[in-house]
Amino acid sequence: MSGYYIWTIGCQMNKADSEHMACTLERAGYSPAPQAEQADIVVLNSCVVRGSAETRVVNRLNSLKGLKKKCPAVTIALTGCMVDSRVDDLRRRFPWVDIFFQPQQWQGLEDWISERESSDSAQRGGAATPPGGTVAAFVPVIHGCDNFCAYCVVPYRRGRARSRPLTEICSEVEALVERGVKEVTLLGQIVDLYGNDLPSGPDLAGLLAELNRMAGLERIRFLTNHPNHMSPRLIGAVADLDKVCEHISLPVQAGDDAILSLMRRGYTADQYRRLVTDIRRRVPGICLSTDVIVGFPGETEEQFARTANLLSELRFDKVHIAAYSPRPDTIASRKMEDDVSREQKESRRGRLEAMQLRIAGEINAGLVYGKVEVLVEGLKGGRWWGRTRGDKLVFFPGNPDLVGRLVPVRVDKSSPVALQGMPV
Ligand code: SF4
Repeated sequence: MSGYYIWTIGCQMNKADSEHMACTLERAGYSPAPQAEQADIVVLNSCVVRGSAETRVVNRLNSLKGLKKKCPAVTIALTGCMVDSRVDDLRRRFPWVDIFFQPQQWQGLEDWISERESSDSAQRGGAATPPGGTVAAFVPVIHGCDNFCAYCVVPYRRGRARSRPLTEICSEVEALVERGVKEVTLLGQIVDLYGNDLPSGPDLAGLLAELNRMAGLERIRFLTNHPNHMSPRLIGAVADLDKVCEHISLPVQAGDDAILSLMRRGYTADQYRRLVTDIRRRVPGICLSTDVIVGFPGETEEQFARTANLLSELRFDKVHIAAYSPRPDTIASRKMEDDVSREQKESRRGRLEAMQLRIAGEINAGLVYGKVEVLVEGLKGGRWWGRTRGDKLVFFPGNPDLVGRLVPVRVDKSSPVALQGMPV
């Protein structure tokens, strides 16, 4: 039997894209190979949002050079945000790669399948449904981004914002539910803008209301939000729709207004604070996560301290902290000097991580002795694991097969990253 191997790095959108490619290959008769060495096609789904991610992709590409030499028949494909419309430079750097295609430009993969198998199965197109058996799935609802934040390469690689039609999304979610999926996470670079480009809508709140009616679906999440587009109507949907989880991902990126302006984020720290206050008032107990970049060009210690103060004041459940690295094509890389030293960036990141570890530990400790609802996703080290509506990881013991079940769990222990308890 023919095999495929997909290596994925980066955001949930990349994971969703990899699920789509896996589904396309499986429809054409391929099955997953445990290692690249055993596959007929190896696909690297790349990310270049940070310099560190790009280094990992390059290392992985270099490691495949030997495989191609040993097995010339294997096809190596590169996709994801490393690939833009000009691939000459990539061809020169990585001549052992056979196919390059931009994110979600599936034709490159479909042509390869057609040529190799003379099969028309890959030409079906339309909505992808990831292979069955999983409890939670990602569903992209809007592709691309028009925001052009100064540091971000995504608009250059994933193109303009384009929403998928409501009917296509509903069909995909229905198919996922038939395969046992209980939770979907709707994805977009700015997911709140879903529907803006659809002449007859709906908006994201409308889409959530539609999915909330779907029998068999238990939970709905959505990410990533942009503070300028998180509308009262959307916050109301989180408050009112029973399947929509109390969990919002709302990147702030910095707590200093001058840095926010240089980043072209379009809001001030105080506007962000007010939004968080509104969300917490409307949805008590909501879990909030955010993203922060430290060491953006020109960031002083004083400006960094404003970011630290904001995180200390707002106390997020999770914070993803990245050190700035210039990305090709972006406004920051073209117009700003990367003048914060690597040591300063690492020091700032370390300080924020230490503070967030303490805050997350305190928040999670507050859940001990309480009851949480866990959607069970699997078994690890002899214990069931799953997540709460607020996206907290929970482990608990138990005998029967609980995968896909909603289990009430009494929390006995906590750490900054997970909870432990007993089913009740
Ligand atoms: S909103 Fe900004 S950070 Fe997010 S994908 Fe678009 S450009 Fe990048």
